[in-house]
Amino acid sequence: MTTGKRRGVTASAIAVVWFFTAFVLACWPTQAADRTIYLTFDDGPLDGTSNILDVLQAENVPATMFMVGLHAKSSPESKALVARAKSMPLVTVGNHSYSHAYNRYRRFYADTEAVVADMVRANAVLGLEAPTHARLPGRNVFRLPNISTNDLSIDQHERNVEQPDYEFVAATGFWLYGWDHEWVHDGTGKPVQSVTRLVSEIDHMFSGKVRFVRPNRLILLMHDEMFRDTFNGTANLTALIQGLRQRGYSFGHIPDYDPLN
Ligand SMILES: [Zn+2]
Repeated sequence: MTTGKRRGVTASAIAVVWFFTAFVLACWPTQAADRTIYLTFDDGPLDGTSNILDVLQAENVPATMFMVGLHAKSSPESKALVARAKSMPLVTVGNHSYSHAYNRYRRFYADTEAVVADMVRANAVLGLEAPTHARLPGRNVFRLPNISTNDLSIDQHERNVEQPDYEFVAATGFWLYGWDHEWVHDGTGKPVQSVTRLVSEIDHMFSGKVRFVRPNRLILLMHDEMFRDTFNGTANLTALIQGLRQRGYSFGHIPDYDPLN
């Protein structure tokens, strides 16, 4: 009797453990798949763009290319790269301005109408229509139908000088995306973090200690020039995508980022 009871208790315990394990296994892929990374590449078309498109195609992952109008019209090869990116269902081509502010951001943002004119000019060169997925040069701001953030990279004094009117830019038909994390380069395009280091930084960001603009959705900023052959661009990007995929992250299309669009 006692033995039977004990056997019954043991069987129940095994059943509980079995159900718990099955529950965890059933939930885990969902949780992992729910952590989404949006790959974004700025400043193309440049040397490096073609390697990026090759890798996206080979790995079958979505990404956004925020392109610069001036770069797009610089040569027949550049125009062909824009056309190739636009022909790929996995790729969203976004607007990253016509002039890239000529890298003089404070002066650029002091005149909102000129900013809009520059963005509109890039739409014409890139063949994009409003509402356009866009990223402002040098400014990490979000202005989406349901998401808005301020640019933390400028202080109040600069804000007073610049008076950047992101609302006006957004109201003109540009949905503005910033970023949560960056694969940094040294100014020449050479990546600063190794792929391993970057993956561990991303793991840390998803550990719950870092606040995202949108929970469990990480927008990763990279620059096309980092993926030139000189910097082993093809191998690095392939390793990054495979590393993130192995850790259970999924890759998102930027039009799905703002849930209530
Ligand atoms: Zn840029």
